[in-house]
Amino acid sequence: MSWWQTDHTHDAGARSWVPGADGHPDFPVQNLPLGLFSDGDSGPRAGIAIGNHVLDLAGLIDSGLLPELDHLSDFTRERLNELLALGAEVRRALRHGLFALLTDARHQPAIQPFLVPMELAELHLPCEVGDYTDFYAGIHHATAVGKLFRPDNPLLPNYRHVPIGYHGRASSVVLTGTPVKRPQGQLPGADGPRFGPTERLDLELELGVWIGPGNSMGSPIPLATANEHVAGFCLLNDWSARDVQAWEYQPLGPFLAKNFQTTVSPWIVTPEALAPFRGPAFARGADEPQPLPYLADADDAAHGGLALELGVWLQTRAMREAGLPEVRLSAGTAGALYWTVQQMVAHHTVGGCPLMAGDLFGTGTVSGETAGSEGSLLEMTHGGKQPITLPTGETRTFLQDGDCLRISARAVRDGFAPIGFGDCSGEIIG
Ligand code: CA
Repeated sequence: MSWWQTDHTHDAGARSWVPGADGHPDFPVQNLPLGLFSDGDSGPRAGIAIGNHVLDLAGLIDSGLLPELDHLSDFTRERLNELLALGAEVRRALRHGLFALLTDARHQPAIQPFLVPMELAELHLPCEVGDYTDFYAGIHHATAVGKLFRPDNPLLPNYRHVPIGYHGRASSVVLTGTPVKRPQGQLPGADGPRFGPTERLDLELELGVWIGPGNSMGSPIPLATANEHVAGFCLLNDWSARDVQAWEYQPLGPFLAKNFQTTVSPWIVTPEALAPFRGPAFARGADEPQPLPYLADADDAAHGGLALELGVWLQTRAMREAGLPEVRLSAGTAGALYWTVQQMVAHHTVGGCPLMAGDLFGTGTVSGETAGSEGSLLEMTHGGKQPITLPTGETRTFLQDGDCLRISARAVRDGFAPIGFGDCSGEIIG
């Protein structure tokens, strides 16, 4: 079965007996994302988000309720790296098994004891992140940021040929809800650098990609099979200190401006769940170069894109104190990704670099071409020159202490049940 084909588990009419699952904005029975949770005295174990509950997958397997998947028992505790390494066939068997249990009310008496209300579950980073690589595939973001740094030459000539990226820092990848401590660093000034807390703290709305089966060193992953190495997707906020970045980025790229914290959403939304939302990759104009052969594949061009609605949301401390809800700062789509995730996998490994299960990719900031669809404040405020006015009358160019910033993604297509990614947020603290 091809990675973009749908089956009965995508039926928009499917109903679950789990209360609150049908029509849930993120986790109806058509999604079934994987995560790691604990409750009470138990250690972290595998769970599945369904409506407002976490289904204790580890407990379910240990109790023999998914008999064909008994062999997964050893892979469902402490971290999910080994489970992700098993690949698409196991994920699909799991999805089909869970879908059957959760849609047929005859299973309710046996399964109900394994449902944990979401508010009682503590969620954990699903994998030990061995390596984290951040790409730069949002072409409108690359162009807009390039304009700020180099007005005459916004998009460098290599951009349309090579998926640009840098090796990020795995040790500072954290789960949603973790406060964001404003980093200190070298800030540029007219009389040379000074040291202090960043004054230009920004977000970057990105998709995260969890790697499943890896490759051995020296054995590149061809584009045609790159999808087999992708275990799932999450939201990723690559918090960025723009003043630090402007001073340090030449000649080797981002360093301290982006290594203090990266926040991800807790759930791994599988490629199987996203199959209905596949579509054409970025459409290149006739005057644009075609990718080199190792980055060109007809199936990837036809199905490598994702139909996602993206959002950036802000609630300041004053808004919170006044009882005002968060305000939406932008509404974009994933159509702005110039390179597909499969192209990123193929490119990352083409020189022989091994990927490992639980490695994390960021796609790069996803911004639309027009105002109102930007994935960073740097773009929304034109480099800090045009402040945003909020419902309280406050203004923002960059993030202030007490601000709560959230990014969101939802997969939407006519004829299918929309699915979401869950929470990816953080409060800025001084
Ligand atoms: Ca980034």
